[in-house]
Amino acid sequence: MSKPVVTRIAPSPTGFMHIGTARTALFNWLYARGRGGKFLLRIEDTDRARSTEDASAAILRGMAWLGLDFDGEAVSQFARSARHAEVAHQLLAEGKAYKCFASQDEIAAFREEARAAGKSTHYRSPWRDAPPESHPEGPHVIRIKAPRSGTTVICDEVQGPVTIQNEQLDDMILLRSDGTPVYMLAVVVDDHDMGVTHVIRGDDHLNNAARQMMIYEAMGWPLPVYAHIPLIYGPDGKKLSKRHGATGVEEYQQMGYPAAGMRNYLARLGWSHGDDEFFTDDQALEWFDIGAIGKSPARFDFKKLENLCGQHIAQTEDAALLHDLEAFRAISGEQPLSAAKISLFQAAMPQLKERAKTYVELIEKAEFILAERPIQPDEKAASALDIVSRGILKELTPHLQNASWSRTDLETLLNGFAEQKGTKFGKLAAPLRAALAGRSATPSVFDMMLVLGPDETIARIQDAAT
Ligand code: GLU
Repeated sequence: MSKPVVTRIAPSPTGFMHIGTARTALFNWLYARGRGGKFLLRIEDTDRARSTEDASAAILRGMAWLGLDFDGEAVSQFARSARHAEVAHQLLAEGKAYKCFASQDEIAAFREEARAAGKSTHYRSPWRDAPPESHPEGPHVIRIKAPRSGTTVICDEVQGPVTIQNEQLDDMILLRSDGTPVYMLAVVVDDHDMGVTHVIRGDDHLNNAARQMMIYEAMGWPLPVYAHIPLIYGPDGKKLSKRHGATGVEEYQQMGYPAAGMRNYLARLGWSHGDDEFFTDDQALEWFDIGAIGKSPARFDFKKLENLCGQHIAQTEDAALLHDLEAFRAISGEQPLSAAKISLFQAAMPQLKERAKTYVELIEKAEFILAERPIQPDEKAASALDIVSRGILKELTPHLQNASWSRTDLETLLNGFAEQKGTKFGKLAAPLRAALAGRSATPSVFDMMLVLGPDETIARIQDAAT
């Protein structure tokens, strides 16, 4: 039996949750959950100046919205600094790290000279092999003894083998002179202690991997499997940024994209399963594998996102969709729907969910349900309620009062009425939309009439006709 898979997402809480972080989290979640493994969350909050509570909270909200549940508690990297320091001291005790007493000025002078001589500016500390008796009292950092020759090969599951000449590695600092651990040490110690078996992350961390591997090797710890995924680009082939559109997970939530559609789209961003575009979570969990992650950066395609989201909305069960809509309305501070409105929504859902790409579009279509009498038409709808149209609506009312409320009967009635007025039903539609919904773009007039029922329909038409 191979070891159970353990993956993690390790965001730095320095702002909002980026869509790229969400994609990385999703890949790790799919990989672990699809294999009965564990998916962990570590907040990399060691940079005290930049980390904020708000940013950590945004990460937790983003994960919850996307349905990316993690095992156990979120781990704070900062809370584990004593453990990180302990590892540095162990390496020191084992002679795999050393105290370096060089001052900033000495290091700067070294670099200056190396640059002038056209040599590598990696600092070569004279303290690496200095006997402890020669150590002065005073401030020092702890550096790792990096290999000085040979090569390090990162066996990356996405990039293939990446070879680094060890001469390019420096004796990186593990502990600063104030005793605080550096980020690079923290990542390795945490991943080891958390039992992480697979590190799937952005390829902006590929160079870090070679340096992190030195620590694994020095500690005699098994390496994780590395998979560095290309970053997300905008449609123009440049790194995704605000210029292209929203980059924050919560912005997508607020724009009304369904989480299931978002997951589907993000999974397709850099990973593929044949020609499959639309798929469910269960399918993604079954299919996802590192081998099918592309080597070149994926481009964010807003149209494709919308299209997939529309398909997810259309395929969601009515009751589940209503639940999601309520949750969406709640984030913008809307009150829960009344029982009466809920039953109207239930009746209208099959029509509402067709062709709505976001919850915002769906709610827009449901305006005839959400609006209260007297309906306030918007500017465009108001222009359809001129004096002639109002007169026609007034004439129509008694016909509706005696009508049988079925689609065919209503169609026959309205078409017949239009003919009698020497016009077509199309001409009646605009004032009816205005009367029933206060809008010019609405679901079909018949759909609205059937959902609202005779009393409410007639009352709205009467309101508009007077
Ligand atoms: N904290 C890093 C980031 O937010 C991720 C580090 C890692 O995944 O190893 O980019």
